[in-house]
Amino acid sequence: MITVLLGPPGVGKGTQAQAAAASQGWMHMSTGEMLRDEVGRGTELGLQADQFMRRGDLVPDDVMVDMVAVRVSQVPSKEVLLLDGFPRTLPQSEALVAKAPSGAIGLSVYFRAPDEVLVQRLLSRGRRDDAREVVRHRLAVYHETTEPLVGFYREQGILREIDADRSIEIIQEDLVRTVQAALEANFLP
Ligand code: AMP
Repeated sequence: MITVLLGPPGVGKGTQAQAAAASQGWMHMSTGEMLRDEVGRGTELGLQADQFMRRGDLVPDDVMVDMVAVRVSQVPSKEVLLLDGFPRTLPQSEALVAKAPSGAIGLSVYFRAPDEVLVQRLLSRGRRDDAREVVRHRLAVYHETTEPLVGFYREQGILREIDADRSIEIIQEDLVRTVQAALEANFLP
């Protein structure tokens, strides 16, 4: 079961996904991590992506779809893959439907928190794309381009919301419970 994690930059979905994957034996794929790895290794893809990431812009859809295509096409139905940072645009979400096994996209978890909270968290994180102007820009790009995906998954009846302005432990419990419930409802006898 592919689980799409949605939410603004700084909402903590990466940390939450990592912890849940480790404790539950779920798979976790972070496109931001994959891109930072490419940048760090100085690959051609990394050099190309770096231009966009520095500015807080999105890397082009075709690059991203190529990056995830094989992995999302191979998810066994009873295993959980947490998709963190993909899709981020409507074309990416449509590409995911096309690449994933039929019926595999069983859940989208939407992490919500007010912008003020996010800006504070991002500025304290100290990543290179976390400078103040870049943070503002990333939030604007999120609201304009990625937030509409909430409606896309809500219409399919697979959206669950999590209030991410709470303690890390409570959010973790909520996430694990939400994924387990969807897995049972969708895929277990
Ligand atoms: P993240 O770690 O998810 O915040 O991603 C860091 C940066 O990587 C983003 O600001 C984008 O520039 C780029 N990125 C990650 N995932 C995607 C995606 N699915 N589509 C476009 N750009 C992405």
